[in-house]
Amino acid sequence: MPKRLRYRRVLLKISGEAFGGKAHVGIDPEVVASIAAQAVRLHKLGVELAIVIGGGNIVRGSAFSARGMNRPTADHMGMLATVINGLALQDAVERLGVDSRVLTAIHMEDVAEPYIRRRAIRHLEKGRVVILAGGTGRPYFTTDTTAALRAMELSAEILLKATQVDGIYTDDPKKNPKARRFGRITYMEVLRRRLKVMDSTAISLCMEHALPILVFDLARKGNLEQAVRGRRIGTLVEPG
Ligand code: UDP
Repeated sequence: MPKRLRYRRVLLKISGEAFGGKAHVGIDPEVVASIAAQAVRLHKLGVELAIVIGGGNIVRGSAFSARGMNRPTADHMGMLATVINGLALQDAVERLGVDSRVLTAIHMEDVAEPYIRRRAIRHLEKGRVVILAGGTGRPYFTTDTTAALRAMELSAEILLKATQVDGIYTDDPKKNPKARRFGRITYMEVLRRRLKVMDSTAISLCMEHALPILVFDLARKGNLEQAVRGRRIGTLVEPG
């Protein structure tokens, strides 16, 4: 293993909102370029990197369904949105000279490869940045749950959950100045306190298989590298 790396194969979950920059909607190419630069830095360190990308900057199925749209249809739109984001990220990574593949759970061979577990692993072994789009391919799920599922399928050592805040707090730190950040917390505690980190399906899946989750702020420069080096940033969710 390359020196001073705590994790060699990681699954990074990036929400679609991160691509929208300050507006949280649409795609800001400069923001995507800076996320790609962090991904490439990890790749250069020798980390095998798989990225699950969300679609909330374009379509969130639950929001459309709340306004009357058929839920599976709205969710299909949301999953297609993740493919748009995936292609944007692939382009940004490849412009930095690193090979990348988009694999989708919804098959569309003209734009991306189908998600096949063994093929994804092969790409990782060959040093390609693997971008997993299309969620699970099924409605009623989220890309957080996808991230937990793919992390397990690909034998990632940790799920790195990128957020806009630097970890999990007792309360919303933007609203409550007394909110305190957890350094470590158990899955059970996250579920019991109903902390809005990831949906409960995703947390339960990680708990069942003892997959650690690191919740951290991707926008803070160097944080991703700190994460794979095992430095104490953000909040680590783990067994008790
Ligand atoms: N989605 C889905 N099944 C999945 C993953 C995602 O139906 O397995 C849909 C769902 O409508 C969701 C949208 O895709 O709202 C975008 O994903 P998500 O909301 O998880 O994106 P993020 O919040 O990470 O940007």
